[in-house]
Formats: sequence, C-alpha cells, structure tokens
Amino acid sequence: MMGKAIKNTDVPVTKGTSGILVISEDEASRGEQQNCIRCGKCVSVCPMGLEPNLLMDLSEKGFYEKASSEDIMTCIECGSCSYVCPSHRPLLDYIRFGKNIVKKLEIVKN
Ligand code: SF4
Ligand code: SF4
Repeated sequence: MMGKAIKNTDVPVTKGTSGILVISEDEASRGEQQNCIRCGKCVSVCPMGLEPNLLMDLSEKGFYEKASSEDIMTCIECGSCSYVCPSHRPLLDYIRFGKNIVKKLEIVKN
C-alpha cells in the first residue's frame, strides 16, 4: 500500500516498479474528511513511532521546522496511518508534502 495512486493504465512499468496493486473503485474511494477525534489509531500503527496526526497538523499549518524536529523525514510513507484513520484524514498526503518542503529547506540551508 506504499505506492502512489495512478489515474490510468498508460503509466509504464519501470525498473523501480516492485508491484502493482489493483483495487476496486469502492475500495479506492476516500470517505469524507472529518475532524481528528484523537483516537490515536494512527499513532499506534505507525511502524516508525511517529505521531502522524501531529505531523499532518504541522505540515498543514506550515510549521516545517517543528515537523522536522518531530522526525517527519523518518516517515517511510507506508500509508498505514491514513488507512486506519476513522476520520478519513489525508495524513500521508500532508506528511509527503511536509517532507518535500523540509527537504527543500535543508537544501537551502546547505
Ligand atoms: S505513512 Fe509515515 S507516519 Fe504514516 S504510519 Fe507510515 S511511517 Fe508512520
Ligand atoms: S487516526 Fe485519525 S482521528 Fe485518530 S488520532 Fe489519528 S488523525 Fe486523529
């Protein structure tokens, strides 16, 4: 479940393609995003010991330095947090976005 969704089948299979997962439209569709209910499910499933809800909030609000200090870069993008969230929050989308910004900021610092 770590891969990126593709819109159609016109995408080539390359050396880096380790697998293709085909799921139905029902399985692929996301529920309507709700507020975080602080259930902690995303935290309990994270294999890296991160707080995905916090990382999403920090990325969403633009607190990239804090996100970096909360180890956003160690996220392996497994998608487990987004998968289990009962509020259908796009945790991984925001974490990926935050990681890209943090990466860019580190490039600027160097
Ligand atoms: S996508 Fe990242 S933050 Fe979410 S569960 Fe996986 S490693 Fe943790
Ligand atoms: S799983 Fe979703 S609702 Fe629960 S704490 Fe994480 S972000 Fe909030």
